[in-house]
Amino acid sequence: MAQVIDGKAFAARVRGQVAEHVAGLKAHGIVPGLAVVLVGEDPASNVYVTAKGKQTVEVGMASFEHRLPADTPEAELLTLIDRLNANAAVHGILVQLPLPAHMDAAKVINALDPAKDVDGFHILNVGLLGTGQKAMVPCTPLGCLMMLRDHHGSLSGLNAVVLGRSNIVGKPMAQLLLAESCTVTVAHSRTKDLEVVCRRADIFVAAVGRPEMVKGDWIKPGATVIDVGINRIERDGKMRLVGDVDFASASSVAGAITPVPGGVGPMTIACLLANTLTACCRANGLAEPEGLTP
Ligand code: NDP
Repeated sequence: MAQVIDGKAFAARVRGQVAEHVAGLKAHGIVPGLAVVLVGEDPASNVYVTAKGKQTVEVGMASFEHRLPADTPEAELLTLIDRLNANAAVHGILVQLPLPAHMDAAKVINALDPAKDVDGFHILNVGLLGTGQKAMVPCTPLGCLMMLRDHHGSLSGLNAVVLGRSNIVGKPMAQLLLAESCTVTVAHSRTKDLEVVCRRADIFVAAVGRPEMVKGDWIKPGATVIDVGINRIERDGKMRLVGDVDFASASSVAGAITPVPGGVGPMTIACLLANTLTACCRANGLAEPEGLTP
């Protein structure tokens, strides 16, 4: 049976490291601050924003929450972003996605000061990551990388397959693994012989959004499986969260695997806090916290 990688415990360790650094900064009169902007009342987004605010305060950072009505004009949101860009107490800004349909998400994200873009979605950060330069790195792939490094040490030379090519998970994950000197394949909905491609992976990252699509016989024996998927399904009359990987069959083949829930999910917010700390250190010309950046 595969070793189960405990993302919840790992995330608690990361939050502990962040809290320790924040306490050190406070002794020098510096308080890292994270602003989260939510437009509209999407229930899932509301849960995420509340959790982010709570955890930000728990690690000793300042939390600034901006909740705007769904019909807020785009220009008003852009004005708020300008204000947050100019506010020296704010080191990180996160605009919760998805935005309402009348807003241009790319325009809004690219209005952020790239140095405060703790989600790593600004076009400049995408370019910096792609060219191996110091960037703000998207939180979910950063969390996956931390778990992979912790498990393997060096990832150099390993075959990595990333299933999914979204801008928020698949593509940045592939860039990070390439930077670790993995041989990277990015698979997607047009990939031929998908199962054969997946079975080549020493490191397999699933980010497709299809409940339990990846079965045990897609996995190379002994491989490390990182399941990013969060899918709500009904089973035995109850709503449940499942990943993109069929945990029961995959865990009998893999060497190590992340569960859903309790794997990648908790790492995402922990990495948001880590990114805010990194942004604060950079803004103040201080050394970056070790182990919390790629
Ligand atoms: P997207 O829908 O943006 O991307 C899905 C990707 O999967 C696309 O590249 C798509 O290919 C590919 N795909 C879809 N169906 C198939 C298929 N049948 N065969 C092969 N490839 C397929 O999803 P996200 O990247 O945003 O999210 C992926 C999952 O991760 C979701 O379950 C989401 O909830 C979860 N997630 C979890 C987070 C966390 O904190 N743990 C954070 C973010 C996401 P193509 O491009 O060809 O259409």
